[in-house]
Amino acid sequence: MDDPRETVAEVIHGLAETLRHHRDLGLRDLALATVPFPDPADALREQERARQGCRLCKLCQSRTNVAFGSGNARARLMVVGEGPGEEEDKQGLPFVGRAGQLLTRMLASVGFDRERDCYIANVVKCRPERNRNPEPDEVAACSPFLIAQIDTVRPHVILALGNFAAQTLIGTREGITRLRGKTYGYRSIVLVPTFHPAFLLRNPGQEFKRMAWDDLKLARREYDRLAGGGA
Ligand code: URA
Repeated sequence: MDDPRETVAEVIHGLAETLRHHRDLGLRDLALATVPFPDPADALREQERARQGCRLCKLCQSRTNVAFGSGNARARLMVVGEGPGEEEDKQGLPFVGRAGQLLTRMLASVGFDRERDCYIANVVKCRPERNRNPEPDEVAACSPFLIAQIDTVRPHVILALGNFAAQTLIGTREGITRLRGKTYGYRSIVLVPTFHPAFLLRNPGQEFKRMAWDDLKLARREYDRLAGGGA
């Protein structure tokens, strides 16, 4: 078999000859083939299609539907929750139950329209039975798909709801009460952790609502700052 280095050298030599020939003919334009970036909505649809019938972890045994994600594929704000609940499992969509309705109102309180301004996903895409916490092997199996969603949407800001989303994305075991109230860098994205709306429904105390409201305003400020910077 020929030495592959020889083959590559020959190809480069041939290319150089062709380019010189084109220059001598007076051709000025170089028509480089460009690989177009896929449309993010198409990319997300394809990722979602690929997850149908997923059997990578034991959550597949009890789920009805994979709740992959929803919203605007070009959103500059991404919201990340924990995992689908009963209603999300039925509909195959994230945050459509009671916690989802509160989330919609929380987002609206700082001027975000859920469908227009946000893309929403969860750490795990299948419902843990009786809404138990996702287990480490389930989070590990599913988090590459969350990372792919983030890489596709490329938001400026991520709002991480509750312990699981914040801990998974920040890479810590610190609880949400300590994590919230400030921003973190996730790659080149600003991550804002806050309480999960299901927690706020269970703990209607004013102090938690006020802290969540502060976090939402922080997310809004970061969003506006990054939009203003043309990033
Ligand atoms: N809780 C979550 O974390 N995600 C949902 O989609 C619904 C409830």
